[in-house]
Amino acid sequence: MIFIYPGSFDPVTLGHVDLMTRGAKLADKLIVAVLDNPHKQPLFSIEERMDLLRDAVKDIGNIEVTAFSGLLTRFTNERGVSVILRGLRDGEDYISEARYAWFNRFLGGDVETIFLPASPAFSQVSSRIVREIAAYAAPAQDGVSDPLLQWVTPKTAAVLRSKFMTKG
Ligand code: ADP
Repeated sequence: MIFIYPGSFDPVTLGHVDLMTRGAKLADKLIVAVLDNPHKQPLFSIEERMDLLRDAVKDIGNIEVTAFSGLLTRFTNERGVSVILRGLRDGEDYISEARYAWFNRFLGGDVETIFLPASPAFSQVSSRIVREIAAYAAPAQDGVSDPLLQWVTPKTAAVLRSKFMTKG
């Protein structure tokens, strides 16, 4: 079965990587799809987000990274996707995710949503928190490694740091 894991991934975190690793084991193929949402002002472009995702999942064989815009169920129908994969960190995630799951089933016919619980090590991590750490917390210093490395890949940490350095 083909699964899809849609999201903003602005940027990808180790919480996302954990979910993709676990989801890919359940699927024949997992499509990781970056949503091009005209209503959001992302920090990273679509190309940057796909590039960081590809690097993060390079060791997993059955993952394809792509982008989509518009209705998710139009894309799932085009690509023959039967399962939408989403992660649940807490009850708040559940409330919004359950709504989307019903909505996508209503619009997409057969498509079902499967939720995986966040692993405890990553249940507090979000792209937003990671962006804030990059903006305000000091990078590696005095032999102490960059705190960002607890939550993102080395490549994502480097790109995040360079974004905030050029922004002053
Ligand atoms: P969105 O902006 O659509 O919420 P995200 O990229 O933040 O997109 O999240 C995509 C999916 O990954 C969502 O289902 C979200 O609940 C899940 N997710 C985000 N962070 C984590 C995490 N740390 N652990 C597990 N799942 C997560």
